[in-house]
Amino acid sequence: MQHHIESTEEAGANTYVLSAQAHSVMQSLVLSLIANSFIGVSTAAIVYATSPAPLAFYWVGALILVNTLRLLSTVWLSRSKYADEHPERLLNILTYSAFISGLVWSALPVLFSHIASINTGAYVVFVITGISAGALIQSTAYARVAIAFMTPQLLTLCASLFVPNEFVTNIVGANVTLLFVMLLRSASQSERRFVDRVRSALDARRLANSLKHANDAISDTNRQLEQLANQDTLTKLASRVRFNAALQNRLETQKAGGGHVSLLVFDLDKFKSINDTYGHAAGDHVLLEFARRILSLVTADELAARLGGDEFAIIVSGKDTAGRAKTLAEDILASLSAPIRFAGNELRSNTSIGIATFPDDASDSDGLFRCADAALYRAKEMGRTRVEIFDPCLREHLIRQNLIEKALGPALRFGQLRAEFQPQIRLSDDRVSGFEALLRWDHPTLGTISPEDVFQAARNTQNTLPLIRLMTVEACDFLLDLEKHGWSDLTIGVNISPVDLASSKTAEELGMLVRSRGISPHRIEFEITEDYLLDAEAAKNGLATLEEAGFQLAVDDFGMGYSSLSYLIDNHIDRLKIDRKFVQDLAFNAKNRALVIALISVSNALSIEVLAEGVETEADADALRMLGCKTAQGFLYSQSMRPGAALAWLGERSIRRNVSMS
Ligand code: C2E
Ligand code: CA
Ligand code: CA
Repeated sequence: MQHHIESTEEAGANTYVLSAQAHSVMQSLVLSLIANSFIGVSTAAIVYATSPAPLAFYWVGALILVNTLRLLSTVWLSRSKYADEHPERLLNILTYSAFISGLVWSALPVLFSHIASINTGAYVVFVITGISAGALIQSTAYARVAIAFMTPQLLTLCASLFVPNEFVTNIVGANVTLLFVMLLRSASQSERRFVDRVRSALDARRLANSLKHANDAISDTNRQLEQLANQDTLTKLASRVRFNAALQNRLETQKAGGGHVSLLVFDLDKFKSINDTYGHAAGDHVLLEFARRILSLVTADELAARLGGDEFAIIVSGKDTAGRAKTLAEDILASLSAPIRFAGNELRSNTSIGIATFPDDASDSDGLFRCADAALYRAKEMGRTRVEIFDPCLREHLIRQNLIEKALGPALRFGQLRAEFQPQIRLSDDRVSGFEALLRWDHPTLGTISPEDVFQAARNTQNTLPLIRLMTVEACDFLLDLEKHGWSDLTIGVNISPVDLASSKTAEELGMLVRSRGISPHRIEFEITEDYLLDAEAAKNGLATLEEAGFQLAVDDFGMGYSSLSYLIDNHIDRLKIDRKFVQDLAFNAKNRALVIALISVSNALSIEVLAEGVETEADADALRMLGCKTAQGFLYSQSMRPGAALAWLGERSIRRNVSMS
């Protein structure tokens, strides 16, 4: 296929060059023919003056006839598309007609060989060599036209000079022969130069075109992604990224003006059961209809967003913020009293809403979200389908977070946190290419604490660095373990919390830490979430140091919210991990498929590898493989495992593979 494309491209280039040659020859031909006719008439006049005979008239008549025919056909051909469509044929025609002209001129030395006058003879020699050189100068694009024209006349001229076998004519003959050889050489050289020039112009244009195509593709994808980042694709409500930015903005303005901002957070009760019972199409329909109802209730300066899944949020600010927030929340509850129709079914869903208000409940957006979430949590606990407004009692929910923060320091000291490893599979041959290290913490009284909660607590207590160190050390230990068992080419992904990269010291320290354990840094891939990369300035030093230290870099949760691809290029990213939101259901979701195709093609153009996260079904793995995705990770292959279990899993898997191959 590739070969075929190349050969058609080459054929196109050849035609292009030939047609440039044809145009160039035709362009100079008109002037040449006029000059040629003029010289012919003067030559005939001189010959006639020396020896008046009708032969001179016949000769000049033939010449004018041939030249006129050539002139007319050239003018006609240059107006038609013939030069573009059949340049090769046209060049042949031009060559033959030049040859006929050449024949007419070649008659000159033969017909008038009886003229003894040295002067006239010298004139004929002068004229023939002159017009031969002239033809060459006029037709540098295509040597054959000039050669066809000059060859017959120069040959007959030489012959007529050598035949008398006299000293003077022999010398002139030798000179003419030498001139002939030089003209031939120069004709082919100038054609080569012409062709080279046309070809390099063509190459330059092609390069510019292909760069433009690549650029267009990238900016198209960029636009698509930007829209995706700001708008929820399904409901057209604002996305999480846009919502967060707007909330931040609103808080800053109100802080300055002493105003209030209320945050409503809510999700659909029973949404999961609708999805499970009636299918994803029904779920999507409910989300869409719900979004439509929300939009009909909010005013122009209130912002409604879908944060993800069935989670929604609204920002309210202005006069009597808290009162307006409550009324709006009640209206939203009421809007769901009418069922949503889908394919003959009446789907019923409810919502619970939590509200928190700045600056009474919290002083920043994180705090405001926590308070509103806590209110939502209570609304659900109290039987759902209700609005709850944050109040101090609700701090209890926040108390857990507080407890986590307190427990974190000791847990780190006593080694209660650990890493588990989830495998990554190369789709082309189904082999394990590496693992991702995921943080795990089971607390005796607080239960399982999600890694997000752990990092939130670590951030609040400036404990992120020990956590990163811990995960890096666990990754190194596991790599050593793997090596001992003969798995020496696997890599391990380690998530790195953005805030800690701000200092390049961290990156340097990690480099030393890894090398001190005898591990080459390129076997560790740091995963950074892309929203962090947007704050590229802060990241730059840390990322550059990680890269210099030889670590691989991956962008985590790709597709969730960003506005530019340029940072992928600037930051020398090795791998993109497409967020599972775009991966799940890939086999049945055309929109996600289109996005994944775009991401893969842009990544290919930038030589960045693509890994798909959250692969849960064979159907999705097959779809990814078909779209050219290199690596996959997800429950289809395995959950995260302790190092021992992961080794056992690897062993079993390779036995199974061997059995199935044999
Ligand atoms: P992540 O980096 O995107 O990690 C993948 C998460 O998706 C993990 O959740 C994993 O268990 C889950 N997952 C993997 N395959 C599937 C699948 O097929 N289906 C579904 N539904 N989920 C799947 P986990 O372990 O709860 O981690 C959540 C997030 O916490 C991680 O998301 C990562 O952002 C953060 N995290 C975990 N460990 C660390 C860490 O050591 N450092 C930092 N900074 N963040 C971490
Ligand atoms: Ca990750
Ligand atoms: Ca991820």
